Amino acid sequence: MLHAYRAALLHCLADPTQVPVDEAYAYFEDGLLVVADGKILAAGDASELLPRYPNIAINEYRDALITPGFIDTHIHYPQLGVIGSYGTQLLEWLETYTFPAEGRFADAEHARDIAERFLDELLRNGTTTALVFGSVHRQSVDAFFEAALARDLRMIAGKVLMDRNAPDYLTDTPESGYADSRALIERWHGKGRLHYAVTPRFAPTSSPEQLELAGKLFGEYPDLYMHTHLSENLKEIEWVKALFPERKGYLDVYDHHKLIGPRAVFAHGVHLCDEECQRLGESGSAVAFCPTSNLFIGSGLFDLPRVEGFGVRVGLGTDVGGGTSFSQLTTLSEAYKVLQLQGKNLDPFKALYLATLGGARALYLDERIGNFATGKDADFVVLDYKATPLMDFRLSQARNLKEKLFALMMLGDDRAVKETFAAGRSVHRRDH
Ligand SMILES: [Zn+2]
Repeated sequence: MLHAYRAALLHCLADPTQVPVDEAYAYFEDGLLVVADGKILAAGDASELLPRYPNIAINEYRDALITPGFIDTHIHYPQLGVIGSYGTQLLEWLETYTFPAEGRFADAEHARDIAERFLDELLRNGTTTALVFGSVHRQSVDAFFEAALARDLRMIAGKVLMDRNAPDYLTDTPESGYADSRALIERWHGKGRLHYAVTPRFAPTSSPEQLELAGKLFGEYPDLYMHTHLSENLKEIEWVKALFPERKGYLDVYDHHKLIGPRAVFAHGVHLCDEECQRLGESGSAVAFCPTSNLFIGSGLFDLPRVEGFGVRVGLGTDVGGGTSFSQLTTLSEAYKVLQLQGKNLDPFKALYLATLGGARALYLDERIGNFATGKDADFVVLDYKATPLMDFRLSQARNLKEKLFALMMLGDDRAVKETFAAGRSVHRRDH
């Protein structure tokens, strides 16, 4: 079944910090994206491609830009109901807002309701793949994967492992956490487009015994993910040092328990030392840069060029509910400001890379998603240049693609997402 989409088309080919920027992307002013059976068949100039597909059905969009679907490398689905909660930093934020909200996921019905709302929100914002925290409850992950499978989305999620320093109603044990995770892996990992992530919340809420079993599990199945938090907040780092005095530092806690390497994704990494960056880079681990969360929770400023300089794979994360927006456009706007405050810059093509191909690379999914190479999943988003009167006016003033893309990122949010496609199917239409 062939279908084509005609609009301006933009996708990344490489990391703009690794190659000259104009070799890092492809842009077609009058572009055509040809999709067959949920996969990309071709992407290029409409005038070149149309003669090859004479009778193809076409969706045509005016004043629109088609890009690959956005990739969110760190987000918590049980925290949907506490996004935008007032007045705390990390450790108090967990106690005050997060833990009570996550407690409600013992109820499978509640989990199913929030999973649907959460996926609606991701798709409304053009995000087609995310690396997602569940709650400690096994049924939270069942509910999430059921909902994601029904929509045929490429999603990664896992049950939180947490056996200490949390309320009783939210803790498991090293053995039950291991057994529940295994059962979820057997049920979901590799089903449809779903992947499982071994998910210790962070070092302070897992005993060494639990981290040991988590590391064992991470090595037991092919292509599993490991998803946790690292060096977000200074008090948190002090706490980790006090809890694990025998380890060299925060990352070394995970390293010691074999929780690093390809497909290990660490959220934040705001306060990493050089040695930790080095270790993340050489081990093939990834960091999720979560600017709205880092600003909102008051954690600090992530130094993207420095961390990337050690060869670390970096993706973009919203970290909802610590983050304040589901929109990767809004998140990029905040990322730009975080770098500005450090006297650095974020080129708009690099920004697009972070939200698409760079995220895919951080997740080792760049063979499947992230751009419009033939054979990849047809996950894409149609962005509306005229989403608001201000965007319409501002973008009409742009003199070239770079200016237009940058203004789109600075001003855009869910209102700019006209339509979202996953595996070639329309999964969100703004105007319906
Ligand atoms: Zn988080």
